[in-house]
Amino acid sequence: MNFLRRRLSDSSFMSNLPNGYMTDLQRPDPPGAAPGPALSPTKAPGPTQVPASSPVAQERRPTQLAQHSFSSITNVVKQTAASAAGFVEQSAPSPSLSKKFKILLVIDEPQHEWAKVFRGKKVFGEYDIKVEQAEFSEINLVSHSNGTCNVDMQVIRGGTKVVRSFRPDFVLVRQHAFSMAQNEDFRNLIIGLQYAGIPSINSLDSIYNLCDKPWAFSQLINNQKRLGSDKFPLIDQTFYPNYRDMITTPSFPVVVKIGHAHSGMGKVKVDNVSDFQDIASVVAITQTYCTTEPFIDAKYDIRVQKIGTDYKAYMRTSISGNWKSNTGSAMLEQVAMTDKYKLWVDTCSEIFGGLDICAVKAICGKDGNDYITEVVGSSMQLIGDHQAEDRQLISEVVLAKMNQALAARSSSVSRSPARSPQGQKLATVQPQQVKPLMCCDTSAEPRKKIVFVLQIHP
Ligand code: ATP
Repeated sequence: MNFLRRRLSDSSFMSNLPNGYMTDLQRPDPPGAAPGPALSPTKAPGPTQVPASSPVAQERRPTQLAQHSFSSITNVVKQTAASAAGFVEQSAPSPSLSKKFKILLVIDEPQHEWAKVFRGKKVFGEYDIKVEQAEFSEINLVSHSNGTCNVDMQVIRGGTKVVRSFRPDFVLVRQHAFSMAQNEDFRNLIIGLQYAGIPSINSLDSIYNLCDKPWAFSQLINNQKRLGSDKFPLIDQTFYPNYRDMITTPSFPVVVKIGHAHSGMGKVKVDNVSDFQDIASVVAITQTYCTTEPFIDAKYDIRVQKIGTDYKAYMRTSISGNWKSNTGSAMLEQVAMTDKYKLWVDTCSEIFGGLDICAVKAICGKDGNDYITEVVGSSMQLIGDHQAEDRQLISEVVLAKMNQALAARSSSVSRSPARSPQGQKLATVQPQQVKPLMCCDTSAEPRKKIVFVLQIHP
């Protein structure tokens, strides 16, 4: 047993195992086994359900003991795997673990294969990037005030359950952290990452702040106050913290937007006061806030996106006639980046301490006026036929930020050597010059038809 323990705690042994190595051993513990701290750090051992004196308990005892010893082996393996996955400064007890890599946690759906996008890229020109990708629903974590964050991830890949534990060096968040419509709230994970100070794109601060659309809209109101409504034409909006004062609005039709949801969900067009009161009764049972906006008879929707210093603008026109152009079928076209659009998106990218990846949404009305409706962050969907390029741009932004963040961290660690784990001497890492990202091309391109988008939302 001691040999096995020694072998399994040998970091080079662990690091030489192939990808997915722990698939079997990291399967969930059999019922009754003690939970492993590395695998389920957030779960306290549950109370024993059967009293020890009961005959049933006595009958089961040998099995439980057998399970327990198996479990203690697997727990050693799990803990060691977690250590091996961390980079050398964080957790390696042995100087033999000199594999140079940084762990990038990407929170996204599996079909977007970020490992391919980051293949061959290096932090500081010398550390490989090891991508761990999972959806919010597939991860859990435990964070400590000393800055460590252990992430557990359970994903199904190719029909196989893969379980991993690791300490991310950086996080790219490509999914919504909160959606009332899906009943999905992952703000606790954002808090956990922030608690450990894990650097991220977009910043965890901004991701948390964008979890309530009216809260984000309040920043847009500030932008409008600063720039004036001719330069920043924000739609008129009214906020109701709950249904109680929803009696009527000055004019109809209006669009009522209930709570914080995506993909057009919770957005209702209301034509008269009696329908408005019906909707108010729906808001009452959702127990959340809502906003109202005048309904804009739209020519098309506009989306201006900014990834680092790359800008793109799109217009989307409904084909199926749905007033929500993101529902039913629509035509998407890339349009020229104008100074007007650039100003909108640049201003929006400054909110909440800065958004490295963002998009501003607007409606161009048949009256010829533009109406800005919303800003979205790094969870924004990529659209059009430049998605592969956009993914590369995102990876460039992540790489630049990883260089910055890790340079800052290594310099702060070298300023306070007493805080290095187990008194290890930390490698001195020379920060490289952060490469400038692509320049903005604001040349007036001709309109280009790109793609028909078919989106069907329930
Ligand atoms: P997504 O997640 O796709 O960004 P969402 O849930 O944030 O969507 P909105 O973008 O606010 O929803 O609205 C969905 C669509 O409804 C818009 O794309 C636009 O076509 C239409 N829409 C939104 N607000 C208005 C409005 N005030 N007047 C007219 N149409 C509107």
